[in-house]
Amino acid sequence: MKDFTHERKRMVEQHLRARDISDEKVLSVMGHLARERFVSPASQFMAYNDFPIPIGKGQTISQPYMIALMTQMLDLQGDEKVLEIGTGSGYQAAILGKLAKKVITIEREKELVARARKNLLTQGLSNVKIVLGDGTEGYMYNAPFDRIIVTAGSEKVPRPLLDQLSIGGKMVIPLGGRALQHITLIEKKKIDGEIKIVEKKGIDCRFVPLRGKHAW
Ligand code: SAH
Repeated sequence: MKDFTHERKRMVEQHLRARDISDEKVLSVMGHLARERFVSPASQFMAYNDFPIPIGKGQTISQPYMIALMTQMLDLQGDEKVLEIGTGSGYQAAILGKLAKKVITIEREKELVARARKNLLTQGLSNVKIVLGDGTEGYMYNAPFDRIIVTAGSEKVPRPLLDQLSIGGKMVIPLGGRALQHITLIEKKKIDGEIKIVEKKGIDCRFVPLRGKHAW
């Protein structure tokens, strides 16, 4: 198998650090994780370019910059329980697994779940659990979550996800229309005894649609 160390380093410097990714932990994890293992053998040559790559079932692994940005926005300290919606290849889940204590990731496509499980096995991560199902319902068995990341685009925040976010928790989700969304940071805060939801709109993005009961 080809060694991608050079490409990986270049991705981190050119596409992440040269832009606004400054979280050293995120840079270090992405600088070590073998992204080529999460795409098909035929796509490996482009694994480190800054664009999304098809992973089957009409889905894509997101571009490295978007993954780094969303991970940085989650502001992980290492002791969090994280929920990801949209496992896809498992690449984002692997990054989360290296930065947080426990990760539950939900994927609705059976075939992708099987492949992501295999991909994650190569990383020896025992703190990442992949669940087959509709992620817009959240995962009540492990709720509440300190962090939630949705890696597919939605018109609104699925209500169960808001309910399953801890007080003091953060969620990153692409919100908008089918063609264009904004990376959005949602924070659940307790202010003067009242629970408030604070929403901050970030940059434009284009994700595959979130499908399921509570997405559109
Ligand atoms: N995070 C992934 C990329 C995600 S692409 C990675 O690192 O590779 C978006 C994924 O969300 C697709 O695999 C799609 O099947 C999945 N998805 C869409 N709606 C979903 C839902 N309601 N529940 C779970 N997964 C969903």
